[in-house]
Amino acid sequence: NKPLVEVDKEILDLMNLEKKRQFEGLELIASENFTSRAVMEAIGSHFTNKYAEGYPGERYYGGSEVVDVLEKLCQKRALEAFQLDNTKWGCNVQPYSGSPANMAVYTGLLKPHDRLMGLDLPSGGHLTHGYQTATKKISASSIFFESMPYQIGADGIINYDRLEENAMLFKPKLIIAGGSAYPREWDYKRMRQIADKVGALLMCDMAHYAGLVSAKLLDSPFEYCDVVTTTTHKTLRGPRSGLIFFRKGVKSVDANGKQEMYDYEQRINFAVFPSLQGGPHENVIAGVAVALKEANTPEYVEYAKQVKLNAAAVGKALMDKGYKLVTNGTDNHLILWDLRPQDITGSKFEKACDHAGITVNKNAVVGDTSALSPGGVRIGAPALTSRGLKEQDFIKIAEFLERILKICLEIQGRVGKKLKEFVDELSKSQELKDLKVEVE
Ligand code: PLP
Repeated sequence: NKPLVEVDKEILDLMNLEKKRQFEGLELIASENFTSRAVMEAIGSHFTNKYAEGYPGERYYGGSEVVDVLEKLCQKRALEAFQLDNTKWGCNVQPYSGSPANMAVYTGLLKPHDRLMGLDLPSGGHLTHGYQTATKKISASSIFFESMPYQIGADGIINYDRLEENAMLFKPKLIIAGGSAYPREWDYKRMRQIADKVGALLMCDMAHYAGLVSAKLLDSPFEYCDVVTTTTHKTLRGPRSGLIFFRKGVKSVDANGKQEMYDYEQRINFAVFPSLQGGPHENVIAGVAVALKEANTPEYVEYAKQVKLNAAAVGKALMDKGYKLVTNGTDNHLILWDLRPQDITGSKFEKACDHAGITVNKNAVVGDTSALSPGGVRIGAPALTSRGLKEQDFIKIAEFLERILKICLEIQGRVGKKLKEFVDELSKSQELKDLKVEVE
C-alpha cells in the first residue's frame, strides 16, 4: 500500500497548494472554517470503505455492527450539543450535506407541489429555501414545490408583518426560518405564531450559526420549530455534512386522554433513505461525531464567543470609518457591507481582495437588482477566529479592507466601470501585491 506521494503526485501537489492558500490568506468567507486535526483523521479513516444503507439495527449490508455504534453515538452527541431531550427530539445524521438535508425534510413532510415560504435569496436566504427568479425556477425546492419567498424590509430586517400577510394569502404548508447572509437574530416566536395561524409546519435551517446556538449565544430555534436542519462545516467546524433534528414522542393529548404522536421520525428517515440517498458516508459521520464532541466543551464556547466579538469588531471598525453595514451591525458571526455608497460592486471588491490574499464573497444587499453583480460583500469571522485572531486583529482587517477599497476606487476612477479593464489593472497593481497579508 503506497503513500499518496508515490501514487499520485499531481493530486498531492494540489493538496499542498490548497493548504498553502488556506494558511497564507485571510479567510473571511462566512460559511467556511478550519476543522481540527482530529476531525480530519476521522474522515480519512477506514469508515471510508464501509457500505451501510439503512439505519442502526436495520441495515441492508452485513458487517455493520461497528458503524451502528458510530451512528448512534453521533446521534446522541448531536442531541447533547444542542441540549435536547432524547424523548422529545431525534436526529438523522446521514444527509450528505445541507442541501440534501433540506430536500429530505420537504420530501418527507410535504407532498409534491405543496407550498413553502423561505427567505428570498437576495434577502439572505439559501437556494434550497425555494429560490426562483421572476422568470425561472432555480432550486429543486421551487421546481418540485410551490414557493413564495418572504423578504427583508428597507432596513435589512425581515418584514414579519409582510410575511404574515402573504402567508395568510398563500397558505403554505411549511415556513422556513434561517438563512445564509442575515446578520440578525430570528424571531422564531413570531414565525411560530404565523405558522400556527395558517396551519404550517415551522422549520429552521440554522446551518450558518448552529455553533452559536450550541454555545447558547443565539436564541434556540428548537423552542418553536418542528424541524431544524444544519450543515456541520460552518460555525460548527466539522466535516462537510448535514443533520436533521425532528420532534418526536407525544404531540398532543385530547380531552379523553388519547395521545397523538409525532410521525416526523419515520417520514424524515424514509426520505433520507431510501427516497433520496443510498449508503451514508460513515467516515464523514465519524468526523461529525468528533466535531460535536468538540462543540460540547468550554473551549468551544469560548471560541463561539470570540466569533461574535470578532464579527462585531470588524463591523464597528468599518462603520467608524463611515461605511454602511446592512442593519448597521450584527448579532451573529457575519456582517454585510453595503458598498453602493462607494459606487463599487461587490464583485470588483471581491476580486481585489483575492489579489491581496483576503477571501470574501460578493453578496446582494437590500434593494439590489442584479445577483451577478451585487452591491455588497459578506464577511464572516468563524475561520480566522479558529486561527486565534481577536478583536484587535479584526480591527486591522478593517484597515486592510479600507485600503483595498481605496485602490479599487482609484483604478475605477482611471479606467471607468468596465470589468475587464478593472481586472487587468488589479493584476498589475503593485500596491495590492504589497498588501498581501499573512497570519502567523
Ligand atoms: N442552508 C444554508 C443556510 C446554507 O447557508 C447552506 C450553504 O451555504 C446550505 C443550507 C447548503 O449546504 P451545502 O452547501 O452543504 O449543501
